[in-house]
Amino acid sequence: MSVETQKETLGFQTEVKQLLHLMIHSLYSNKEIFLRELISNASDAVDKLRFEALAKPELLEGGAELKIRVSFDKDAKTVTLEDNGIGMNRDDVITHLGTIAKSGTADFMKNLTGDQKKDSHLIGQFGVGFYSAFIVADQVDVYSRRAGTAASEGVHWSSKGEGEFEVATIDKPERGTRIVLHLKSGEVEFADGWRLRNIIKKYSDHIALPIELPKEVAAAEGEDKPAVEWETVNRASALWTRPRTEVKDEEYQEFYKHIAHDFENPLSWSHNKVEGKLEYSSLLYVPARAPFDLYQREAPKGLKLYVQRVFVMDQAESFLPLYLRFIKGVVDSNDLSLNVSREILQKDPIIDSMKSALTKRVLDMLEKLAKNEPEQYKGFWKNFGQVMKEGPAEDFANKEKIAGLLRFASTTEGDGEQIVGLADYLARAKEGQDKIYYLTGETYAQVKNSPHLEVFRKKGIEVLLLTDRIDEWLMSYLSEFDGKNFVDVARGDLDLGNLDSEEDKKAAEEVAKSKEGLVERLKTALGESVAEVRVSHRLTDSPAILAIGEQDLGLQMRQILEASGQKVPDSKPIFEFNPTHPLIEKLDNETSEDRFSDLSHILFDQAALAAGDSLKDPAAYVSRLNKLLVELSA
Ligand code: ADP
Ligand code: MG
Repeated sequence: MSVETQKETLGFQTEVKQLLHLMIHSLYSNKEIFLRELISNASDAVDKLRFEALAKPELLEGGAELKIRVSFDKDAKTVTLEDNGIGMNRDDVITHLGTIAKSGTADFMKNLTGDQKKDSHLIGQFGVGFYSAFIVADQVDVYSRRAGTAASEGVHWSSKGEGEFEVATIDKPERGTRIVLHLKSGEVEFADGWRLRNIIKKYSDHIALPIELPKEVAAAEGEDKPAVEWETVNRASALWTRPRTEVKDEEYQEFYKHIAHDFENPLSWSHNKVEGKLEYSSLLYVPARAPFDLYQREAPKGLKLYVQRVFVMDQAESFLPLYLRFIKGVVDSNDLSLNVSREILQKDPIIDSMKSALTKRVLDMLEKLAKNEPEQYKGFWKNFGQVMKEGPAEDFANKEKIAGLLRFASTTEGDGEQIVGLADYLARAKEGQDKIYYLTGETYAQVKNSPHLEVFRKKGIEVLLLTDRIDEWLMSYLSEFDGKNFVDVARGDLDLGNLDSEEDKKAAEEVAKSKEGLVERLKTALGESVAEVRVSHRLTDSPAILAIGEQDLGLQMRQILEASGQKVPDSKPIFEFNPTHPLIEKLDNETSEDRFSDLSHILFDQAALAAGDSLKDPAAYVSRLNKLLVELSA
């Protein structure tokens, strides 16, 4: 080994230390994946070299075949991986192998419970990576040189996977990275050709470049050591270029783990080849679990882009809309130029038509999943439902399709779980029901007992219960599904259409007439607090309710806008009362105007509370109520 200079010892970033600890303890049952991770990195490094060499062919340094070699030494108890990819310089090594660059990592680490089973799931969302080497090794040496730098600018990184690592400058004639794993005493089984070959076949067969293992050959005559011959053990062709029928599920799954840096199998995938005016292949995956940084603006998203089999960029965002940012996969185009940039992608009309085709593919894949694997779709919805709800606002063209994929809680099914699709809802709608009824609110507990639902319960009509923060906003983009309008049951003058019989309607009109006097008295008593007072058709048990004006903002939107510092136009609710409720009858017979006013304000405030709103003047409410209580007990 050549001389080492500028040797220094550095500490790992805190998060790396935590990750190392977690890795070693929770992934132990699946330890052979270290090889998959290191091969995945070597393959990425070769992809990057190929790409950079498009503009700077000299990086290829004479141009030996790009490949990965895995070798072992039983006596020394080592396994060695070597690639002739892009390599790393001293700074690269310090940042890439000493820190975790992902934003939000520290927060993520705080979520770790210490429960190994749970944590190993979490780590799946996080990605495993280079540090998995320490599952089987108690010392890892990395020798690397970045393509295009002098042989004297090689770097040696070494660590025992505890708190720190060493770096030194070395001579390294060959470009690329060599990683030597010094196996723990219990892991010597990995220094074995047969074992390594099996692991490579199992996890890395899809890697598009050759992975070579040394072949056992007899020593030539007169030599005491056999010459090493190398043998390619994987298929070494890009998986997405192969016909669908020839690719096994396991291969699709392993390929997913490689490109998505995920630890778990995907839920579903869609592999397609398009020929004609545009030519491209795509392989799109739905992950099983949301990554921890799904809602972080700068979190990685987008597909891996290849142009004629050559890797061009990671996280190409222009191929899918934002609400599908959780989709992983590759797209390989024959039409784009190899020196395509992100800026060009944003403007290229070719990309627009690819984007709409790929979006359809994803939506079709989700429809299929929902239809054929409803249990899995439930899991999908739990993880990604919130993001899908951004869809109708972003993707006008696919609004109906997206709406069909949405899932809601309802008064009929799921006990608060979002499992009801709009098609199911309509399929079991009441005869004559030509509307989709919904109610929005803060929490399921609050809406499920809302007085707004009383008449629906009585008539056995299902109402969707929407309690996610963005639901009201979502509904402002959805006006109909399958030709049926959405109706917010807390809004406007509820018209049940054909669901009310002629007799019902007549009776209601008569009651309304008989209560005209009460309506007027209430208007005077409540004054500025209400936009209108009227007899309700919504109530069976509660005395009164507040409805939102047809054009007014609902509570949720109001709160969102206010929180973002916007001025929200003032709007007043409509006070509706239940003419048959004993309290209302009492009110109607109340002769003291003072008492009448107190009682109406109490009813008004109670209705606001039941709707989940806060009171404008809670002290006044309490004092009125106490006054009544005192009179009661007097
Ligand atoms: P990820 O692959 O998700 O980025 P890893 O922990 O597997 O995370 O690797 C960390 C980083 O180390 C890589 O992103 C890459 O920059 C660098 N790296 C790892 N292995 C190699 C390699 N063989 N050649 C060049 N760079 C590498
Ligand atoms: Mg990796």
